[in-house]
Amino acid sequence: MATAAPALKLTNDNYHSLEANQLFMSRGQYNDFLACEAMAMAKISGEYKEEERESLLAGRLFHAWNHGPDKLAEFFAKYRSEICKKDGELKAPFVKVQSMIDCLRMDPFAMWVLQGQKEVILTAFMFGCWWKVQIDSLNREQGRLVELKSAKSIRAREYDRELREWVSFIEYWKYPRQAAIYTEVERLASGRGLGEYLEPIMVVASKEDPPDKEIISLKEPDRYAAELREIEKNMPRILAVKAGKIEPARCGCCAYCRLTKKLDQIVFYREFE
Ligand SMILES: [Zn+2]
Repeated sequence: MATAAPALKLTNDNYHSLEANQLFMSRGQYNDFLACEAMAMAKISGEYKEEERESLLAGRLFHAWNHGPDKLAEFFAKYRSEICKKDGELKAPFVKVQSMIDCLRMDPFAMWVLQGQKEVILTAFMFGCWWKVQIDSLNREQGRLVELKSAKSIRAREYDRELREWVSFIEYWKYPRQAAIYTEVERLASGRGLGEYLEPIMVVASKEDPPDKEIISLKEPDRYAAELREIEKNMPRILAVKAGKIEPARCGCCAYCRLTKKLDQIVFYREFE
């Protein structure tokens, strides 16, 4: 049974606010809870911010470009002093973003795939709570939802500690899980029937010099089903922790846990083997 939607009207300005994160679940918050409940709760309360200012702004610049010329101008008006040097030139991390933007901007197929409604916020009731998603480019007429991604490298493998194996950047960053959440929330929000999904696509530019790029489909309904089953299984505990009914567990090794660590015992050396 769906409960009434939270009273807060989500906009592009308040989407990432504390209030929005307290009222809604998102894929980022879900990932946080799986990584470390204590860190997830500290972020929700506003006690802890993970991302450093510069990487946050680099991501915003990349997305402001996708949003369109007005948003890009707005972004520059607001953050010019932070992203530009005194002579007006972009600082190094933003020069890199600019080269990623240029590599996509010059590619007619990438630009065609990115066409659609930009930064669309959708909500749906799923597994006991309201979820929010913000889709970079939504194109229902052509049957796709598109996320703009940056990657260190599109081809390099990353080591997944949980799986204990080397995986693609797509598995490492849990993008199939994101595809499952986004396609399902979009389906529920638009009122289409079970399994009637849009195709989730990522347009990716790498941070290499010069940047690499790809357009990647994550269309795999069996995988969405498996990802959603996993989420359904994890949600009762996550919601109980979020509601303050269960004490959040500390993972003991993330940046938040290190930052707030207090020693209260001596550890035997073989623990580190
Ligand atoms: Zn932790």
